[in-house]
Formats: sequence, structure tokens, C-alpha cells
Amino acid sequence: MAIATVNPATGEEIQAFDPLTDEEIDRKLRLAAETFREYRNTSFADRSRWMMRAAEILEEEQEELGRIATLEMGKTFVSAKAEAVKCARGCRYYAENAEKFLADEPAELEGAFVRYQPLGPVLAIMPWNFPYWQAFRFLAPALMAGNVGLLKHASNVPQCALKIEDIVRRAGFPEGAFQTLLVGSSAVQAIIDDPRVRATTLTGSEGAGRQVGHEAGEQIKPSVLELGGSDPFIVMPSADLDQAISTAVTSRTLNNGQSCINAKRIIVHEEIADEFQRRYVEEMQALKVGDPMDEGTDMGPLAMPQLVEDLDDQVRRSVEAGARVLTGGKPQDGPGNYYPPTVLTDIPEGSPPRTEEFFGPVASLFRARDAEEALRIANDTPFGLSSSVWSNDPAERERFIDGIEAGMVYVNRMTESTPEIPFGGVKNSGYGRELSHFGIKEFVNIKTVWVT
Ligand code: NDP
Repeated sequence: MAIATVNPATGEEIQAFDPLTDEEIDRKLRLAAETFREYRNTSFADRSRWMMRAAEILEEEQEELGRIATLEMGKTFVSAKAEAVKCARGCRYYAENAEKFLADEPAELEGAFVRYQPLGPVLAIMPWNFPYWQAFRFLAPALMAGNVGLLKHASNVPQCALKIEDIVRRAGFPEGAFQTLLVGSSAVQAIIDDPRVRATTLTGSEGAGRQVGHEAGEQIKPSVLELGGSDPFIVMPSADLDQAISTAVTSRTLNNGQSCINAKRIIVHEEIADEFQRRYVEEMQALKVGDPMDEGTDMGPLAMPQLVEDLDDQVRRSVEAGARVLTGGKPQDGPGNYYPPTVLTDIPEGSPPRTEEFFGPVASLFRARDAEEALRIANDTPFGLSSSVWSNDPAERERFIDGIEAGMVYVNRMTESTPEIPFGGVKNSGYGRELSHFGIKEFVNIKTVWVT
């Protein structure tokens, strides 16, 4: 894939970038390794000060950051600005808490304790869908722990990637503490193999995760994989139906339907299913699809033409298998990568909504006789990222919290990624955790010390 800015709302190529040569990559890896030797000895106070400054820059420059993200990947300008502000929160959270999270930890043996130490240069391979947040939720804990970061961002968001490097640098971090590598995915294997790189993390598709996980394993380097999801959104009769319906709409269409934690399979108890379906379809149809720069727009275009083709193919195969389209169902005519809010129902066993991730605004509605059947449908997927359960019955809630095969369960609320709580999945959604104190401990040496 070419490294370029292409406006998803028009299809116009704005700017192309040359990928780094092998020599340039080598220079950057050398700088990372050299910087690490000094940087690992900097104090938490210094790192916190720089991280706090990064937070201020993110807030001060949210308009510009928002414009770049909207131009490169089509999310609404409103949500792009909010993303920059959220990154500032992530920076502050780790600036304030990293020292506490990584303080020496006594063990239950006299004289024994654990010391957390950084590993070295960590390669982060990131997707375009939250072009700032994905990168900052890696870099804030990694840099606060004393590691240095290397970012291989998705090829369609090079300006976001350069901007992130620029912000970290201007915040005061030493040159080389965080570098963007403008490279395609074919360059990744050699970078993981390079002995100067000590660990890797990838947020992206299952296929990319398999390759990166394989390569990291081959090199015996730690890895974190945050992969796709096909999150269930379960609604039981005791739920607040108004809230459940509007949240199910937001949760499916947020970020133009391109979030790993969008509610993709909506499982409704049959007692309320007719009303839910009617009102859900109405609310999906009422969304305003259009220019992402326009403040009144709910949903912009998909990030790349290929995503429209893939989604179209998935919907066609679902319909061929017997699913029914309640609204939407085919790409919008005209320029830009527009796909309308779509709702499918009567989803047959083994059809795409049950086995694949739909990375666009297509919701699949399921009906369940009772909590056990809802749970069975929820778990009938290769993925296990997050889930959302709507119920006011304590026993039923407990059954779902306990029984759902996912890294996260949100009750009577939408799934979200926020600094204070761990984020990650099970099954084909990956392994490891980002955020909270768990996230900062993924890339440290948990060094055992026992002094007699
Ligand atoms: P991709 O996996 O195609 O791309 C993600 C990143 O991986 C990009 O930087 C890409 O580079 C790189 N990449 C792709 N293939 C390889 C490879 N074989 N080896 C090394 N690097 C590779 O994902 P998408 O762009 O399609 O992003 C959407 C996916 O990400 C969805 O499946 C979504 O669910 C998942 N995701 C998961 C999240 C989570 O936290 N669990 C959050 C957000 C998204 P290039 O662009 O150059 O190809």
C-alpha cells in the first residue's frame, strides 16, 4: 500500500510520501538504541513534565490535529478533535501514575522484591481508525516506563504519524525517544527481527496479528496484540429500552462504524425484539451521512475504497446465505467511500455476521428466547474483545458478566477505551492489555531481587 494522504470524502490524493530506505531505517534504529541508554536513566519527574507538556500541545492544537485526521481517514471533525483531547487525558494519567505503578514491589519473602525496568526500543504497529489515540495509548505508558518508541503507523495516515512524532519532540522528550517510521507493512518483519528492537505491539486485523505474533515469537520478543472484534450488545426486557436503542445506534456507527469495539451483533430478547427492531431501524435511518467536516454530520465516509468493497462483499454473502436487509445494504453512489447505516436480520448459522468482523456501519440483529440463548449467540464467534449487556436484573447481569467470553463486559453502557481501565481481548481478538496499570507493565522487565 502506498504511503499517502487520500481524502476519503472525495477520493483525491493530497500528498504521497516516500517510504524510508533501509539505511534510513537503520539510522533510526541506531538512534533509538543510543537514546535508550540515556533515556532509561531519566527521572519520573522529567518524563512526567514532558508528558504533561504533550497533553497541553494536544489540547492547544486539537483543531489542526482534527483537520488532519478527518482529511486522512474521514472521521468527523468533531470526533477527531475529541480524540486529540482524549490523548491528552491519557498522557496526564500516565504522567501522574507511572511512578506509583512502577514502584518497587515487596514480595512475601523477607528481603525479596520486584523492580520494574524498561525493555528498550518497542515497535508499535498501529491502525488508522483512531490515528492519535491508538498511538498515544501505547506511547504514554511506554515512554513513562523508560522505553523508547518506534511507530509504524498505517500507510493512509502519514501526516497523523509525523504529527505525533513532532508533538512528542516539542514536548521536550529527547530526540530518538519516539520516532515515526514511514514504512509499508513489508518492512515490519525485518524491524521486529532487528536485535535493537526489544518488543512489539500491534493493533489491527487478525491477519496482521498472526504475522506479527509469529515473528515476535520466532525472535522470542514480547508482543501485545489488539485485534478485531465482533462485539455482542445484549438487550434484555428489564433494560431501559430508550437508552439501549440509542446507545446501540451510537455504538454501531461511532467512528463511521470502524471501531474494533463497535457493537456489531445486537442480541435482543424476543419479548422486546419487534419494538427494538422497528425503533432501531428508524434511528439508524435518521443518521446524517455526509461531509465529515460538517458539524451536523453523524457519519462520514469509510477510510478507504477497499473497506467499502469488503463490506459490500460481506453484506452480499450474508444475503445470499439468507439474511434480510432492513435498511441500507449497498454502497452509496457518487464520489467518496460512503456506505449507509445498514441493518441485517434473520442471520443464518455460519453466515458472515456470525464468523467475520464487519468493519463499517452494518449491524446484525439477533433474537434470543432467554439469557442462556443470548449468551450462546454472544459467544458463537471467533472473537472476544468486548461486550455490552443491558439488564436491570442482578442475577441475569451476573450470568453475563461471568459467561461472556470477552476481555471486557460493560453493563448498561457502551464499551469504551479510557486510560483508567484495562483494554484488550481473548480468543482471536488478541492478547495482552493496554491502559491502566496493566498496560504499563506489558513492556517492562519484572526483575526479581532477593537480598539476604
Ligand atoms: P491492518 O491490520 O490492515 O493494519 C493495521 C496496521 O498493521 C497498519 O499499520 C498496517 O500497515 C499494519 N500491517 C498490515 N499487515 C501487516 C503485516 N502483515 N505485517 C505487519 N504489519 C502489518 O488493519 P486495518 O487497517 O484493517 O485496521 C482495522 C482492524 O484493526 C480491524 O480488524 C479492527 O478491529 C482492528 N482494530 C483493533 C483494535 C483493538 O484495540 N483491538 C482497535 C482498532 C482496530 P499498512 O497500513 O502499511 O498496511
